[in-house]
Amino acid sequence: MISIPFFDDHYPIKTFISGIKDIPSSIKENDRDMSLRDQSFKDFLNIPVNRIIYADQTHSANVFAISGDYPEGRLLNINEELTVKHKGGYDSIVTDLPNVLICVHTADCLPLLFYDPVEKVSAIVHAGWRGLCGGIITDTIKVMEDHFNSKAENTVSALSIGICGSCYEVGDDVYECLAKRHLSNDPKDFLRKRPNGKYDLDIKKAAARELKNLGISPENIYDINICTYENKDYASYRRDGKTTAISQNVTGIIMR
Ligand SMILES: [Zn+2]
Repeated sequence: MISIPFFDDHYPIKTFISGIKDIPSSIKENDRDMSLRDQSFKDFLNIPVNRIIYADQTHSANVFAISGDYPEGRLLNINEELTVKHKGGYDSIVTDLPNVLICVHTADCLPLLFYDPVEKVSAIVHAGWRGLCGGIITDTIKVMEDHFNSKAENTVSALSIGICGSCYEVGDDVYECLAKRHLSNDPKDFLRKRPNGKYDLDIKKAAARELKNLGISPENIYDINICTYENKDYASYRRDGKTTAISQNVTGIIMR
């Protein structure tokens, strides 16, 4: 497991990225029980398993905020509660609760992490091209601002592991959607046309541009710079074919 030094070295934060090589050998491919995998995060972070919260991830642009309204004991069932309340699913979690690990699992899509050291708010986002088109990054920052008094200029962000701009071929549908979303800017720096008529999508560049537009300073955008497709330590849907949640990469952030 690796950490994101940009966060961990400067703030009362612990981050981690877990890949294929970190999956315990006792986990079987078709195993849907995440508890064995959670055990390794629990040991790494020294937290109880019931303080680990995953986004349910439906490629939506929905954000869920977890705040002090939730007494500690109810965190045990929080996933069920959220699923009931948010039938459409949610791909982003914002919280001001310390010692609650928020995480996403991915296999090429881009996880983004946020932390506002002034208001002490953290967030995690699962962004594929659909989430980007839906505005999940903007909506996450908006929830941080509207519900937790965060300011984008105080917020630090990290782009975790994800497929790079040379490995991610997309078609016209993605081009149309993202070009429209970034209409005021030229999309050519993150959507390059290939000789076969398709495009290379650099999802990290598209995300970084959105963060800058939202007022996050470029020096507060850290890129871990690992391509999941090229690096076999990490799960890649494009390289490996279908993956189950349990066999994917996990990125998490917890405030102390
Ligand atoms: Zn790549």
